[in-house]
Amino acid sequence: MNDTVFTFGGDAPHTNARQKDKTITGGKGANLAEMASIGLPVPPGFTISTEECLRYLQQGADFSDDLRDAVANALKHIEKSVGKGFGDEGDPLLVSVRSGAAISMPGMMDTVLNLGLNDETVKGLAATSGDERFAWDSYRRFIQMYGDVVLDMDHGLFEEALEIAKEDKGFYSDTEMEASDWQSLVGEYKRIVSEELGREFPQDPHEQLWGAIRAVFDSWDSERAKVYRRLNDIPHDLGTAVNVQAMVFGNMGDSSATGVAFTRDPSTGEKAYYGEWLVNAQGEDVVAGIRTPQFLTKARREQSGADKPSMEEAMPEAYAELARVFELLEQHYKDMQDIEFTVQQGQLFLLQTRTGKRTAKAALKMAVDMVGEGLIDEKTAILRIDPMALDQLLHPTLDPDAPRDVLTTGLPASPGAASGKIVLDADTAELWAGRGEKVILVRVETSPEDIHGMHAAQGILTARGGMTSHAAVVARGMGRPCVSGASAISIQRDGRTASIGNREFKEGDVITIDGANGQVMAGEVATIEPELAGDFGTIMEWADTHRRMKVRTNAETEADCRMALSFGTEGIGLCRTEHMFFDADRISAVRQMILAESEEGRRKALALLLPEQRADFEAIFRAMAGHPCTIRLLDPPLHEFLPTGDEEFAELAQATGRSAEQLKRRAAELHEFNPMLGHRGCRLGITFPEIYEMQARAIFEAACAVAGNGDAPVPEVMIPLVATRRELEILRALVDDVAKAVFSETGVALEYLVGTMIELPRAALMAGEIAQEAEFFSFGTNDLTQTTLGVSRDDAGRFLTTYVERGIFPRDPFVSLDIEGVGQLVELATQRGRKSRPQIKLGICGEHGGDPASIAFCEATGLDYVSASPYRVPIARLAAAQASLRDGAK
Ligand code: PEP
Ligand code: MG
Repeated sequence: MNDTVFTFGGDAPHTNARQKDKTITGGKGANLAEMASIGLPVPPGFTISTEECLRYLQQGADFSDDLRDAVANALKHIEKSVGKGFGDEGDPLLVSVRSGAAISMPGMMDTVLNLGLNDETVKGLAATSGDERFAWDSYRRFIQMYGDVVLDMDHGLFEEALEIAKEDKGFYSDTEMEASDWQSLVGEYKRIVSEELGREFPQDPHEQLWGAIRAVFDSWDSERAKVYRRLNDIPHDLGTAVNVQAMVFGNMGDSSATGVAFTRDPSTGEKAYYGEWLVNAQGEDVVAGIRTPQFLTKARREQSGADKPSMEEAMPEAYAELARVFELLEQHYKDMQDIEFTVQQGQLFLLQTRTGKRTAKAALKMAVDMVGEGLIDEKTAILRIDPMALDQLLHPTLDPDAPRDVLTTGLPASPGAASGKIVLDADTAELWAGRGEKVILVRVETSPEDIHGMHAAQGILTARGGMTSHAAVVARGMGRPCVSGASAISIQRDGRTASIGNREFKEGDVITIDGANGQVMAGEVATIEPELAGDFGTIMEWADTHRRMKVRTNAETEADCRMALSFGTEGIGLCRTEHMFFDADRISAVRQMILAESEEGRRKALALLLPEQRADFEAIFRAMAGHPCTIRLLDPPLHEFLPTGDEEFAELAQATGRSAEQLKRRAAELHEFNPMLGHRGCRLGITFPEIYEMQARAIFEAACAVAGNGDAPVPEVMIPLVATRRELEILRALVDDVAKAVFSETGVALEYLVGTMIELPRAALMAGEIAQEAEFFSFGTNDLTQTTLGVSRDDAGRFLTTYVERGIFPRDPFVSLDIEGVGQLVELATQRGRKSRPQIKLGICGEHGGDPASIAFCEATGLDYVSASPYRVPIARLAAAQASLRDGAK
C-alpha cells in the first residue's frame, strides 16, 4: 500500500498520524485534513507527501507505478465525493494543484487552478454551471497559469494578448468581456502555446495533472524559494507536499466570493476579525491587486470610510458561518489563524488555515490576551514569541507601507532604522549633529577614532566589516542602527562624495538605512516610533519567573548601564575598558602610553588616565547599584589606537615633546602583521604590567569610593585572552596586590572576584588548570570563534555570506554560535572548569550572548548567565526563559 498519498474531505478517514505530521504532508495538507476532520467545509482532495518531492528532486526519474496508482485512487475519492468525473465531458471535475511545505513560504511556490479543463470539458462546465462566460473565462485563466507555471512560458505573452483583445473591443476592464470574447481569447492563447513551444496545449487532464505536480515539486528549488529560505533560516532539505483539491468557484456570480482573513488583527493583535474579500472573483484576484478588495467587517469598513460593502453586510449568512469557523479554528489551534476561503453560490468553503504571521506588537498582545481568555497558559505564551522579533519594539522601525528606493544591501549589523544626511567622517558627523541635523555616518570601515561621530549619527553605514566588526559591535552597544559590509559603496578620493549601488551621492544627501534587513535607501523613509506597551512588560515578567540563567549586559558607559537596567539587566557581563579610551580627549594620553619608549614614559601617560578611569568606574558602579560588574582589563588590538595621518603625529609630538619622526619610528616598531593575534589582551598586561596596575587601581579606588554610599559594588576583574595558567597566576597576583594596597589606603575592604575570559582554544582545553586561578570564566566567543575557525572576524564579512549561501555554515558563526565546533570547546571548558572548581561562575559575553539559538545552547551547557548588549537584554531574557522551558520539557 502506498503511504505517501493522503486523502481528505468527503468521507476520507482522518486517523493517519503521518497525515497530521507537517514534515510529511506540509502545513497546508496537514491543516486541510485537520479542518475536514473537525467537520469544517473543506473541498475534498489529497496530499502527496514531501518524501515524494525529495525523491523526485534527487532521482529526477519518472514517478513510480505505485505513486501513479495511489494518485488515481485518490482522484476517485474526489470524484466520488463531489459526484463529477475528472475529464468527464458532461460534468467535469476541476482541481487545484498547490504546493505546501512544512514551514509556510507565502507566495514562494507554485499553484495551478482550474486544472482538468480542455476543449471538451469546458463545454460541460458551461452546461453544468449554466454560465458560458464563466466556463470560458476559467479555461483561459487555466491556460495562462499552466503556461506560466508548468510550461515555463513568459506570462507577459498572455497578458499582452488579453490587452489586445480588450483594446480591439474598446473594453476597459475584464468584466466587460463576454463568453465569446473569452472563447476567442482561449483560441489565441492556444495558438501562442503552440507557436512558442512547437506543441499543442495538453488536452489530457491526467497529463495536465502530472505536469502540475512536477512543476510544484520543481518550484521547491526555484531561485525565489531558495532566497526566501535563506532569509528565513528554513532548511533546504524539507521539500514541499502537493495538494490536489476539488475546485470551488468564487467567480460564479454575485453570490460567490473569495477572500483571506485573520481571526485577530495581525498588525495590532486586537481581538477583531480582519480580512479582505472580493465578490465574484477567484483567489488570485485578491492577491494580485487587479481589483481593490473590500473589508470583511462592517466596523473596519466604517473606520476606514470605504463605501463598498463589507462581507458582513453584503453576505450576512456566509459571514456568520465564517465567524463561527473563526471561533472553532482558534479554539482548535489555540492561536490566531490566517484563512483562505471561497463562497460558491452562497456556500462557504475553507481552502487553507495556518498560524498567522504577525508583528511583534501583535504577538505580545495576542499572547497576553489568550492567557487572559484561558486559551493558553503562560508557558505557551512565552514560547510563542520570537525573541528576535522584540527588536522591532526596541528601535524605531521603517513604516512597512512606505515606498523604498533600495540602493544596495549590506549586513543587518545593528537593528533599527534611521534616515539622515550622508557624512563621510566622524568630525563632520559631530559638527552637523551639533547644529541639530540628522546624519548617517558612511565610512569604508570605522575605527575607535570614529566613536564620537558614531555617537552623533543616527545610523552607521560601512562598506567593509562583518557582524562583529568594530562598527557592528559599537553600534549595537550604542543602540545605533548599522548596516555593515555594504560592498557596493565606494567613497571618492575627495572624501566628500560616495557612490552607493551605482548612484552618486554627496555629503548632505539624505539616505535611509534599515538595520533589520541591511537595506540602504535613497531619501527619507518614514519611521514608526518604538512602543514598549504593557504587554511587553507582562511577557517579560512571566519570562523572568521561568528562566534559570541570569542576563547581564555588555556596557561601558553610565548611559548604557541605565538603558540596560531599564531593560532588566542583572549586572554587567563585560565592560570593555578600551572603549573608555576611545574618547577624543583621552586618545592622546592613550597614544602617549602606547608609543612610550620606557616604563617611565608609560607611567606618565597612565597617571593622566587614572583619574579618568576611576571616574568612569565610579559612575558605572553607582548606576549598577550593587549588581555585579565584570570589568575587563585592557584588550586593544593596538593598531586601533595608533595615530595614522601626519596631523595626528604632529599633535602627539606637541603633547609629548618628542619629534614626529621619533613617534613614527616607534609606531612602525609596534606595527603588527596580524594585530588580532598580536600584542593584545593579557599579553599587554604581562609585558607592560603598569597598565593593568593602573586599571586595577582605578577599579578598586572607585569601588571603595562608592561603597560608603549605598549598595556596595562587586567588582569582577577579568583578564582577557589568557592561554595559560601561568599568565593568569601572574596577573591575578598583580590585581590582588593592588586591591590590598587600595584597601589599606582607603580603609575599606570589599568583596571582589578575579577571573578570565575563555576565548582561545588552548584556554578551553586547559580550563581545568586555569580554573585553579579563576573565580569565573566568561566565554569570549567572538575571539573563540575567530581562533577556532581561523577566520578573521574583521575580514569574515567578505566571504562568510557565500559560505552560508552554500550551506557550509547554517548561519554566520559570528552571529550564531557554531555549536557543533566552537560549542564543543565551550562544553569542554565548562566541564573541566567545574571539575577543578565546582563553584566557578560561568557566563558568555561574546556577541552570541544576545542570540536566541546560542542562548539555548548556553542553557543546555549549564552556564550561569549570558551577557548581551543593552538592546538585546529583553531578547536574552525571553530566549533564556524559552530555553529553560524547552529543556525542562525534555
Ligand atoms: C570576545 O572575544 O568574545 C569578546 C567578548 O571580547 P572582544 O569582542 O572585545 O574581543
Ligand atoms: Mg575577545
